Amino acid sequence: MPSPLQLKFVLSAPSVGQLPETPGEVAFVGRSNVGKSSLINSLANRKQLALVSNTPGRTQLINLFVLPSGATVVDLPGYGYAAVPGRIKQGWGAMIEGYLLDREDLEQTFILVDGEIGPTKLDLQMLDWSRANGIPHTIVATKMDKVRSAKRPTRKKELAAACQLETGDIVWVSSSTGVGIDDLRSLVLSHLTAGRH
Ligand code: GDP
Repeated sequence: MPSPLQLKFVLSAPSVGQLPETPGEVAFVGRSNVGKSSLINSLANRKQLALVSNTPGRTQLINLFVLPSGATVVDLPGYGYAAVPGRIKQGWGAMIEGYLLDREDLEQTFILVDGEIGPTKLDLQMLDWSRANGIPHTIVATKMDKVRSAKRPTRKKELAAACQLETGDIVWVSSSTGVGIDDLRSLVLSHLTAGRH
């Protein structure tokens, strides 16, 4: 079993230009309430690590965490109602677009989708935009414990189809039960150790 990611909070930045160079980075992005903070806490096996990203004043910033190797994990602000890359050119949209397009150390983006409700319109816009711009990404379906086990195979097929993917392309997790967390942790580490740098 992979050990927890030993993440340490480094800083919150308003734009990509303020981030330090790192030997490799992965980023988590998703709409508000998708379960991003809970997931980062689960990966780190810490209860309140990502709370820092949910503190007022930091929710609109790029939050950077570091591993003992120096590789980094970014918690991007959750996207809200109309604000998703490709749609809003200022504020939030500009910050996220700038980060995703210009961050040289970025190895992989994890786009979170609520496993119970499936991809929203904004999630699909985020996905289309990432595809169109060649941003490397993996879909992570959260809160899988909320889907009854008898319904899970169908739900997985539907969610994957909505994203134009196969079920095996998606990482299925639950921060509540821990299902899929070890797999995701291994995947995160594989991107960080197989980096270009
Ligand atoms: P964020 O806004 O994306 O950071 O989302 P949070 O991590 O704060 O979670 C939003 C809500 O979903 C909270 O009430 C969490 O307790 C709940 N939640 C997060 N992950 C899970 C999960 O795996 N299972 C269930 N049942 N609820 C979850």
